Amino acid sequence: MDDMTFNIFEPSPEPVIDPAIDIEAEIDRLRHERNAIILAHYYQDPAIQDIADFVGDSLDLSRKAAATDADVIAFCGVRFMAEVAKILSPEKTVVLPDMRAGCSLEESCPPEEFAAFRHAHPDHIAITYVNCSAAVKAETDIIVTSSNAVAIINQLPKDQKILFAPDRHLGAWLSEKSGREMVLWPGTCIVHERFSERELIKLKAQYPDAPVAAHPECPVQILDLADHVGSTSSILKFAGESTADTVIVATEPGIIHQMQKARPDKTFIGAPGADGNCNCNMCPFMAMNSMEKLYVALRDLEPQIVLDEDVRLRALKPLQRMLEMSPAAAPATDLSTVHTDTAVSA
Ligand code: SF4
Repeated sequence: MDDMTFNIFEPSPEPVIDPAIDIEAEIDRLRHERNAIILAHYYQDPAIQDIADFVGDSLDLSRKAAATDADVIAFCGVRFMAEVAKILSPEKTVVLPDMRAGCSLEESCPPEEFAAFRHAHPDHIAITYVNCSAAVKAETDIIVTSSNAVAIINQLPKDQKILFAPDRHLGAWLSEKSGREMVLWPGTCIVHERFSERELIKLKAQYPDAPVAAHPECPVQILDLADHVGSTSSILKFAGESTADTVIVATEPGIIHQMQKARPDKTFIGAPGADGNCNCNMCPFMAMNSMEKLYVALRDLEPQIVLDEDVRLRALKPLQRMLEMSPAAAPATDLSTVHTDTAVSA
């Protein structure tokens, strides 16, 4: 992995590739030659989503990574997601097109500080959002995603004290939904924090019939304006099933690609940032991956996720607890209004 002296928002340089090469055809050829599966998060560039074998949210992708019989997982998302794939499938080669693709939530929660935080709350169970490093997962009791967190917390004894890291907005929302007090780590997602309450109110006035779907990483003043709050998968489902012609979407705008593919008859508008447009809400980490870097990753099997085995084994336990405690995956028909041509599982 690169040393950490670079600016965290700076992607790796784009590879120099012979312009005569048909990148899409080469990715396809290499995928078969390597017995590889390409997993992509909903926040990825549309071209990457379209070439992926499977597109999903963190929970979908972790389940897919655990179940695949591919030899290589090309993970088009950010580093902590690719680490989850390696934790669950250590025998597989896991490549991430740009190893610098981090996450502001992961950055906000250094493992040593998290360990001290845990130590300061010895009678609390440690629940962490999947958006953290493998080293933080290794210090955790149960991992959750925004899809399964409420269901998992509701399975804990009522008197069980909880600490939650690293997203304080998601933690506050979970606390309200579950009726449980929680000690919260003060991390935030730089993407979801940038939505502007004032601009969203103006947009709602412009489109009074358009419901707002928001991710719980948004601050409470945005969630208070939302008609639906949930994970990326649930936002996608809501957007597809809503009877409204126009839906306002308060999460990373990459997800709008799947909405438009599934429901070309509808209009999806990204919620605005402070400057009145949604461009500032694009995740700079997700955007570091490119088709060219994906091609090189499949060609060279680099950069690879490599984890310390002790950390991996300790991180595996809370991930397995998550998978055991998660409600069963929604049947494909539940998402059929939005997923019809999305999930092309290999
Ligand atoms: S959108 Fe936010 S939480 Fe997701 S990877 Fe980007 S910075 Fe991290």
